[in-house]
Amino acid sequence: MINKMPFALCIHGGAGVITPENLSQKDKKIIKNDLILALNAGEKILAEGGSAVDAVAAAVVALENSIHFNAGKGAVYSREGKHLLEASIMNGATLEAGAVANSMKIKNPVLFAKSLLENKDLIMISGEAADNLAEQTNHELVENDYFDTDFRKEQFLEAKKISETTSFLDHTNLKMGTVGAVALDRNGNIAAATSTGGMTNKLDGRIGDSAIIGAGTYANNKTCGVSCTGVGEYFIRATVSSMVSNLMEFGKMSLAQAAEITIKGHLTQLGGEGGLIAIDKHGNINFSYNSQGMYRGFINEKKNEKKVFIWDDEEL
Ligand code: ASP
Repeated sequence: MINKMPFALCIHGGAGVITPENLSQKDKKIIKNDLILALNAGEKILAEGGSAVDAVAAAVVALENSIHFNAGKGAVYSREGKHLLEASIMNGATLEAGAVANSMKIKNPVLFAKSLLENKDLIMISGEAADNLAEQTNHELVENDYFDTDFRKEQFLEAKKISETTSFLDHTNLKMGTVGAVALDRNGNIAAATSTGGMTNKLDGRIGDSAIIGAGTYANNKTCGVSCTGVGEYFIRATVSSMVSNLMEFGKMSLAQAAEITIKGHLTQLGGEGGLIAIDKHGNINFSYNSQGMYRGFINEKKNEKKVFIWDDEEL
């Protein structure tokens, strides 16, 4: 196979009120380590000429398996004290997509979503039906308490104190931790994937942007791939991920212009908070966010760069 172009990969581990005051040096180190492991997992596939779809899934699996992010193990608790998981993935070469919402048992929701990419009958499935289909198609299932962690339990109890009677949307100052990845492979194919436990104390049954193609995840070889993190209700209303692609395709904008307008203009005007990671068909990488921080990292093979960040100016 002729390697036509250098690959690129970017990942995120959530946005939110991540300030120097609420993140210890020890936690920073741990987060950095896990972000690098996720980059390595995707890099291995891309460097060997593998597909963008396989690379984003591998990077997201690494983050789902870390207890430090709100996806897979370490997912937040719903109002009834459960973990209800969501993930989506899109192949920019074919525009095929797969998504799952409100799963209670699938160990790695992104792998299940990936298995739906070629399913002609459905793109998105939720709840018990998703868990049943995952079982029938030999995905690894776990009991819901597999996803338990002390940190998320404390966060849940804290959130309950604040908002027993009000919406979970009123306390977005809690650290989030949704994960995602976008890749451009050596054949010029783009893919994006996102995975989450949603919002702490969310109403059981609520579905956020991370499960929705065009809101939290989008990929199109003609333009770019995008994965989002933030308060999902706003990302759904702002159709964030597809808007970036549409501004590029139909508005003839660069990735940087389209991402900036979508996050700093459209999303911010609606009152939404969070950010996105994106890669265009030329390998340009973009991180746009209006929150205080966003855990993120990238590999740019062309420039021989591999970095992880939290704030604009601080590399981990
Ligand atoms: N977007 C996720 C949701 O609303 C949360 C997050 O990104 O932290 O479910």
